[in-house]
Amino acid sequence: MSDMPKVALVTGGSRGIGRACAERLAKDGFEVYLTYVSRPEEAEKTVAAIAEAGGEAKAFRLDASNRQAVCAFFTEEIKDKVSLEVLVNNAGITKDGLLIRMKDEDWDKVIQVNLTGAFACLREAAKLMAKQRSGRIINISSVVGQMGNAGQANYVAAKAGLIGLTKSAARELSGRGVTVNAVTPGFIQTDMTSVLPEAIVAKMLESIPLGRLGAPEDIAAAVSFLAGPGAGYVTGQVLAVNGGMYM
Ligand code: NAP
Repeated sequence: MSDMPKVALVTGGSRGIGRACAERLAKDGFEVYLTYVSRPEEAEKTVAAIAEAGGEAKAFRLDASNRQAVCAFFTEEIKDKVSLEVLVNNAGITKDGLLIRMKDEDWDKVIQVNLTGAFACLREAAKLMAKQRSGRIINISSVVGQMGNAGQANYVAAKAGLIGLTKSAARELSGRGVTVNAVTPGFIQTDMTSVLPEAIVAKMLESIPLGRLGAPEDIAAAVSFLAGPGAGYVTGQVLAVNGGMYM
């Protein structure tokens, strides 16, 4: 078991926060497996950046919302092949809209990717980590999962759900040496937020005590801590990385 490669799996590692987490975990010494769904060229850019920095990474197309595909991926690529040390459930999407006008498919898709997808990966990772009696699971939730947000009922429900999933999984897996924590980013500069109108960004900035948007690397630093040796006694926690937005 111990001579197998020590892998950190980052879902949605092709861009944004996931890419920064992948790069950081590779620097921390893990071989990184990252997933993507629609942008292979971006996933390959992450792999190339990691290789250039002297690390190792592989990219896999895996739709987090497809539970069968998630199970097959764990069986074919992880089980008995590598030692899965870290899972970062980062894959996420938004489909914003006011509650009373929200379409069923926009509710369903956001829950499927952000919450059910994280559950599916967590369940498969937990089986392997419980057996090896070690592992770190980190779920990327959101500040809005803690405070609510108009126009994002589907996304907020999924992100709040992730916090509940984190706390329950932490209790179930603590006896097996596996920790489960959540990180709640505030407003981070990525493709997800670049579509927001300038006026909304300006308004958000006013509500951030540190006076700037976050960078993906700010989240990667928190993930690195939770995956690292210093966080062995931390589980079931929600680490807010939001510039003081939610105090
Ligand atoms: P992003 O730039 O839009 O990147 C999203 C990533 O998720 C991409 O790698 C994308 O892959 C992947 N993805 C989307 N749907 C997927 C699916 N069905 N299966 C597998 N991968 C999928 O987003 P981001 O801003 O970095 O956000 C990353 C996470 O942080 C999300 O969970 C988000 O909710 C959370 N978050 C972000 C912010 C923020 O301000 N940006 C704040 C709080 C929380 P492709 O490249 O293949 O499309």
